[in-house]
Amino acid sequence: MIRLSDSVKCLKGVGEARASRLARLDVHSVEDLLFLFPRRYEDRRKVSKLSEVVPGSVRSSTVKVVSVESRISSKKRVPLTEAMVSDGTALASVIWFNRRNLDKVISVGTSIALHGDVSKRGGIVQFVDPEVEVLWDDRPPRQVGCIVAVYPLTAGLTDRWMRDVMDRALVDALPSLEDPLPDFIRAELGLADLHTALRNMHRPPSPEAWREARKRVAFDELFALQVGLAMVRRDRERTVGAVSLPCNGPLRGSLERALPFVLTSGQSKALAEIGEDMASEVPMNRLLQGDVGSGKTAVALLAMMQAVDGGAQAALMVPTSVLAQQHGARMEAILAHHGVKTATLIGGLSQSERASMLRDIASGVVDVVIGTHALIQEDVSFKNLGLVVIDEQHRFGVLQRGAIAKKGVMPHTLVMTATPIPRTLALSVYGDLSVSVIRTMPKGRIPVKTRTIGEHKLDDLYGFMEREIEQDRRIFWVCPIIEESEHLDAGPLEERFYVLVQRFGEKVAMVHGRMPLAQRQEVMASFASGEKPILACTTVIEVGVDIPEATVMVVENAERFGLSQLHQLRGRVGRGDEQSWCFLLGKPKTSEGIRRLEALCRSSDGFVVAEADMEIRGPGEICGVRQHGLTDFKVADLIRDCDLLDLARERAFRLVGEDRDLSSFPSLRDAVLRRYGRKLGIATTA
Ligand code: ADP
Ligand code: MG
Repeated sequence: MIRLSDSVKCLKGVGEARASRLARLDVHSVEDLLFLFPRRYEDRRKVSKLSEVVPGSVRSSTVKVVSVESRISSKKRVPLTEAMVSDGTALASVIWFNRRNLDKVISVGTSIALHGDVSKRGGIVQFVDPEVEVLWDDRPPRQVGCIVAVYPLTAGLTDRWMRDVMDRALVDALPSLEDPLPDFIRAELGLADLHTALRNMHRPPSPEAWREARKRVAFDELFALQVGLAMVRRDRERTVGAVSLPCNGPLRGSLERALPFVLTSGQSKALAEIGEDMASEVPMNRLLQGDVGSGKTAVALLAMMQAVDGGAQAALMVPTSVLAQQHGARMEAILAHHGVKTATLIGGLSQSERASMLRDIASGVVDVVIGTHALIQEDVSFKNLGLVVIDEQHRFGVLQRGAIAKKGVMPHTLVMTATPIPRTLALSVYGDLSVSVIRTMPKGRIPVKTRTIGEHKLDDLYGFMEREIEQDRRIFWVCPIIEESEHLDAGPLEERFYVLVQRFGEKVAMVHGRMPLAQRQEVMASFASGEKPILACTTVIEVGVDIPEATVMVVENAERFGLSQLHQLRGRVGRGDEQSWCFLLGKPKTSEGIRRLEALCRSSDGFVVAEADMEIRGPGEICGVRQHGLTDFKVADLIRDCDLLDLARERAFRLVGEDRDLSSFPSLRDAVLRRYGRKLGIATTA
């Protein structure tokens, strides 16, 4: 008996070469192979009579060989096998190229099944290079006359070989596979048993059987993640609670009065929900959704003041150092008047600056810390961290949220995002998160006008830019980073910079992520002040940067950016009271690319854009969670399997609630820990 953890090389017919090809599909063990599911299926159950075959179609037929002969083709100089076959209704000719040993397998009288394109030549049906299978009396057909699986392949692997090797795995290894799903859950939900499900994923006898199989496999995927999330919640409940931070302290009130605007109703409502959570000893775990420009920062600021009012520290984590710098400078300017001490902790500080900052954070001299990922580095310790705000969550994912949450006793956590996350996805990724949504925009915002333009219109665009600059406005010009050149030079960015300099001279500045921090700050300042009103840049400016005078956003090679990223970029303009513009340059080559840009031109509403994005790309990509591997399910689909997700979630949380360590279900526990233990930071010992 072959074990599941054995290498695929234990299967007959898999040697070094094939094993290394399978490895490219991420298949190493026999178990990996069993869980390599078909990309699609071909229904070849209908077998046509030769007399009824229509030329130009794909057909399956079962026939007997009447004659067969191999030779070298005179024209192409390749081995060629030719046969005449009959099924009693008509004769057909068949030719194969490069199938050297075929004439050893089939001879006159052999029953074979054919599947492939048919044409008609000289009044007779002809199959060219069809798939062929010898039929045996004692074995059902595998390639024709049934539903066949089409697998993802790499060079050197054929569908036929994959089907054969999968058959072997199903026969030799599947019986030793243990089903991790508790029996009572399977019975209660009427799910197929795992062996049947896997067999029918690979060799479905009917579409109905496949649907049942798929449902079972999808359930398992969703269930495993939900069990993982339930364990995360269990771990959190085992730790001590959070500090209660009352919401009617003096700082929060005076800061709210000091803002240069009145909060919108959406902001007020969100802040009330957050305030209430923070006042409780149950650690807050809340997601704040609000479109780009809806004013999430002000909400975060006031929430942080509630923490400081309560004698605790607050931390704001943002995705880029440009942004950390911006938030840091602004918050310091506001907060210093109120006796609140801030620190901006980013990469690129000098040793001694950093050391003294860390000391002040640890001793509690600093009330509010603003930073990037640097904040979650090991050496940052807080005296009394009460609130963590994570801005633009789609850049972070769950992983780092877990990491920072471990810094304090158990700080309240607020995650902010401009990407509306569908409920199913939020549940499956964040487990037990509460959600606040800001649907109102600050008054007086004029929607940005978005246009796609071709290269031939560049001169018009330059003219337009000149007029905008004359009116003291700012222009972003974003170029994509070419991956290979990321560490060498900026490629398209530098090229564009020189072109712009030729046209606009001194007015152009350039910024990208590999510049030293101090230089970057200098460039941003000269752009903000209007000294250099054109900024050629990479996506370092994508999130959060707030310059009200900016009215034009040009995105070069727009087709290379994702929809939500483009929406974020566009959000950099339209922040003042002038009409703003977003120009998308480039030529999308795929229909998906065209749909993306169209969606953007159609709407400036982030919720609408996000819905379009989800339709085009699927939900996992949208929130950037895919890269964390939490939701890259093989089979389950968070939109289609929404009901199944609810079932899985309910059963998973109940199961972990009743058996905290899953001690009665060791194989389930092992499977979940193997898949999610590290990703979710699940404690392995109680
Ligand atoms: P985002 O939600 O994208 O993070 P910001 O917090 O950067 O948005 O806010 C965008 C701009 O709107 C900022 O310039 C901010 O000062 C301004 N703003 C925020 N709230 C209001 C409000 N209630 N009324 C007017 N302007 C506001
Ligand atoms: Mg923001």
